[in-house]
Amino acid sequence: MDLGENTLTALPVPGPTYSRRDIGVGIVHFGVGGFHRAHQAMYVDRLLERGARNWGICGVGVMPGDRRMRHALAAQDGLYTLILRHPDGKWEPRVIGSIVDYRYAPEDPEAVIELIAAPTTRIVSLTVTEGGYNIRHDTGEFDVDAPAVRRDVEHPDAPATVFGLVTAALGRRRERGLPSPTIMSCDNIEGNGTVARRAFTSFAALVDPGLADWMREHTRFPNSMVDRITPVTTGDIAPELDARFGVRDRWPVVAEPFTSWVLEDDFSCGRPAFDEAGVQLVDDVAPYELMKLRLLNASHQALAYFAHLCGYRYVHEAAQDPLFAGFLLEYMDTEATPTLRPVPGIDLAQYKRTLIERFANPEIRDTVARLCAESSDRIPKWLLPVARENLATGGSVRLAAAVVASWARYAEGTDEAGEPIEVVDRLAGTLGPLARSQRENPTAFLENRSVFGDLVDEPRFVDAYRWALDSLHRDGARATLEALRSKVG
Ligand code: NAD
Repeated sequence: MDLGENTLTALPVPGPTYSRRDIGVGIVHFGVGGFHRAHQAMYVDRLLERGARNWGICGVGVMPGDRRMRHALAAQDGLYTLILRHPDGKWEPRVIGSIVDYRYAPEDPEAVIELIAAPTTRIVSLTVTEGGYNIRHDTGEFDVDAPAVRRDVEHPDAPATVFGLVTAALGRRRERGLPSPTIMSCDNIEGNGTVARRAFTSFAALVDPGLADWMREHTRFPNSMVDRITPVTTGDIAPELDARFGVRDRWPVVAEPFTSWVLEDDFSCGRPAFDEAGVQLVDDVAPYELMKLRLLNASHQALAYFAHLCGYRYVHEAAQDPLFAGFLLEYMDTEATPTLRPVPGIDLAQYKRTLIERFANPEIRDTVARLCAESSDRIPKWLLPVARENLATGGSVRLAAAVVASWARYAEGTDEAGEPIEVVDRLAGTLGPLARSQRENPTAFLENRSVFGDLVDEPRFVDAYRWALDSLHRDGARATLEALRSKVG
């Protein structure tokens, strides 16, 4: 049966029992990808089931690739199936109804601006990827010279970026005497709210300094910790959903059963009762996000390049390999955990064990390629802060340095069998040649200060890095991991 509003009641899987026609848009979300659909939209769907009415989501796409999502959602009235995949092979599907509208901004930016300016819109949320905030790695500042930003500054009436669209809308709200919506980042970035504040107010300052001041005073940017592994939906999922459950869905989303969202209770224009949907509202999210970014996300990077070089293509294959599981646990115990603060209500030892189990879930089929993509956005945000803190406190950096070396080896673009690696990274054009020159100059990759800052000036880090890179070149990824596991830290 084709998924759509008119087949909803007859569908053989659970779905919304609320009347979607009665749901108003309260949240405008940029970046409707897999994660948003598996996470925030699922929580909002729970709220709508509990009787919330004015918190429906309007998705917005700004990138060319978002056209596909627009078409898929339009064909099925914004409905889609979220399939939770349990390690024992069980599929738990539910049709999610919270995305009640979708706009593709390049076609009608004005409509998106007016939507955000509407008094009924109270939250603007984002999952626009780590790179989407346009922050320079070297300075930590908003990149005012990025071509897309320059273009929007020059054409403030027809913006194309999330910054241009939101700033134009907030300008109208200020003129109309309306409160600012909350800007809520749900991306995997340390201090994601703080980063969003820097990005949006920096952009606003370029077009209207008075508006930037107004935003600093009135707009809230809560930090959050978000957690649910959501792999890319592969081509086999939709046919299998149809075969197992008789639901024809153009773009279902799959995720692990585990989910978590810890959110600062800091909203400028009201919020739904997120806590009733299972969101943990806190005053300070920092300890939770450090735990998640430095254990889960950094461990993903610790696994990714070694895994690819060892020939693994799925995350679970590597996580089920005792050599990798041991390496990840050692990284978490000896390097990441000492940099964490106490995390109220969380048993860290249990969290780490559960992480390895989550990575090893064969049903998720998360790809190593997904983890390897956009490394130049991820490594500086998740792994390097751990290494920097340990350098400052005298802690161990040898495993983090080896992970960076594994990335450098991967970035050469050829695997250990001489097969090409498709490096997906917006800096691939600069990083590739650097990586390929490192057999002559072993620190060539690390010397890229726009990514690594001054790490190349840290002898303890450089020694460990050079050892690992040399071992990767000489003995390969598996032997390097074995040597790291047997080396005294
Ligand atoms: P995805 O590729 O499915 O979707 C990404 C979305 O962001 C797309 O709509 C894309 O067009 C949009 N986007 C990318 N760059 C943008 C830009 N510069 N401006 C505006 N929009 C932009 O990816 P996903 O799996 O949904 O992940 C998105 C983000 O969610 C991640 O980068 C991460 O920060 C966060 N997250 C993902 C997971 C996961 O397991 N997938 C888990 C936790 C957090």
